[in-house]
Amino acid sequence: ATTETDIVVIGAGAAGLMCAATAAYQGHRVLLLDHANKAGKKILMSGGGRCNFTNLNTTPEHFVSANPHFCKSALKRYTPWHFVELVERHGIEHVEKAPGQLFCADSSKEILGVLLTECEWAGAEIALNTAIKRVAKSADGFTLTTSTGVVSCQKLVVACGGLSIPTMGATGFGYQLAEQFGLSVLPTRAGLVPFTLQPDDKAWLSELSGISTEVVARTASAEFAEPMLITHRGLSGPAMLQVSSFWMPGQAVTVDWLPQLEDPVAELVSERQQHPNRSLERWLRQYFSQRLASAITEQFGWQGNLQQFSNERLGAVAATLKGWDFKPSGTEGYRTAEVTLGGVDTDAISSKNFEVKSVPGLHFIGEVLDVTGQLGGFNFQWAWASGWCTGMML
Ligand code: FAD
Repeated sequence: ATTETDIVVIGAGAAGLMCAATAAYQGHRVLLLDHANKAGKKILMSGGGRCNFTNLNTTPEHFVSANPHFCKSALKRYTPWHFVELVERHGIEHVEKAPGQLFCADSSKEILGVLLTECEWAGAEIALNTAIKRVAKSADGFTLTTSTGVVSCQKLVVACGGLSIPTMGATGFGYQLAEQFGLSVLPTRAGLVPFTLQPDDKAWLSELSGISTEVVARTASAEFAEPMLITHRGLSGPAMLQVSSFWMPGQAVTVDWLPQLEDPVAELVSERQQHPNRSLERWLRQYFSQRLASAITEQFGWQGNLQQFSNERLGAVAATLKGWDFKPSGTEGYRTAEVTLGGVDTDAISSKNFEVKSVPGLHFIGEVLDVTGQLGGFNFQWAWASGWCTGMML
């Protein structure tokens, strides 16, 4: 038997849940399908278990896309304050950890709870453990062959997300569907992901695993002042995650280890004048932990007292500290990436209701699109905004 419904949403993640509830409140019969055994797994694991569910300072500039204008309309119509209002209506307490970044005070389960409750109240049906085998265009809509039967609908919303964290149910199914309907998919790569290191850098840095320090990290097109975390696999922490979304394989990343000092040469020269018998390592300990100061000293061959350092050499020390270049060997890839860059080309999609211009009734929302937010709650805001705008206009 064929199940008939008005709207099928594929993917019970952030965008799909928001879209399904919104569309059902508009009076449509909505069926939300997911192959996973649980809805919203990424919501649960997000923000270290407390879900950074939005960012009050969201602007289109916080997103990477081949078309930087595409996200503007939806972000303007569904703002962070709309989501905050929803969360507060459900009595969820939240905290602003960094300026604009809102997290659950307790657990990310609460955000998933809000969305599941909204789906229930609105009457959107959720079917889990349902694999979609085939999607075909029919005379007045779409027919889906699934592992649990055939479903026909007038409108189909694809909210399958990106490729990050395959163990949480991520697949490239949304991209396959896009290609099936003649859309182009821009090359995908892992974003908001730790860097792995070349053997020489790994040799000295992996000893320092667990140390975090404030840096400014740069690539050719972006820079971020955030903490950098040294891990046993490479370099992570917000500074590196942010830069990874702008990095291309083969490029170098530049690290300013001393962003708080504009002119370290002047500081070093004055320190040498006052304390010629002190070591350079001792000077470094003002800014770094003992372990890090000692490793930097050894790595760059800066042993000895300051009086042994010529002006030229102090200049070289300062230049290294203010602009240390490293060439990542790569990234940890989709296994640990928070997001997937690239995706369904937005040129073929309406920025108002996310409908494919050439296939009426077919919509793409959320991370499957070529719209990727920076770190800090922007990716969920995109999921909510694209899901809501579509749900209102189906
Ligand atoms: P998803 O939430 O990924 O949902 C896609 C759904 O589609 C999944 O339920 C999946 O099972 C389903 N699906 C996939 N393939 C198929 C298929 N073939 N058939 C049926 N169903 C399918 N963003 C923030 O803004 N703040 C954070 O704090 C944050 N923390 C994160 C932490 C981690 C570890 C990760 C991995 C991501 C984090 N993100 C965060 C990013 C955020 O989770 C995503 O951008 C967001 O979930 C994307 O929403 P989506 O609905 O488009 O996709």
